[in-house]
Amino acid sequence: MFRHYIECQDPGRIISLLKNLPAPFSSFSYTLLPQYDLGPTTPSDQYGGFPECQLHKTGYIFFRNFPTTAIRGLAFPGGGLSVMITPADTDETIRLRIWHELLHTVQQPGQNPDDMDAWINDNLFRRIVRWLGILSEETWQRLYYDYLTGLIE
Ligand SMILES: [Zn+2]
Repeated sequence: MFRHYIECQDPGRIISLLKNLPAPFSSFSYTLLPQYDLGPTTPSDQYGGFPECQLHKTGYIFFRNFPTTAIRGLAFPGGGLSVMITPADTDETIRLRIWHELLHTVQQPGQNPDDMDAWINDNLFRRIVRWLGILSEETWQRLYYDYLTGLIE
């Protein structure tokens, strides 16, 4: 089970988004942190000080507009994840971002959450649907993450 550290003025929003993730990610425990508390993270050297969470099955979710980097999330296979939430994010954007990083932590060979295009192009039906442009990018992410989640034992 994952343990999430949440640093956000509206933690209820994050908690309900986490509960809306599919199993095995929808059961978790959490700790609320005061503003700017880095919890179990250390600032990353590689990613402009972005908080890095290396603890196994541990998430750090924080509300900030981190100025020094374009990244919004970090994860370590077999380790933890950190996800930044900005004022512009919709609920579904946040949910998909957290889901994406959670998938990185349980990544098996050949299941890379960053390889969505390869997954789409691998199948003629999906390729045609994508070419037709009838599904939003978030819908594709949902379908792909569902597929990856289904591969987790
Ligand atoms: Zn990724």
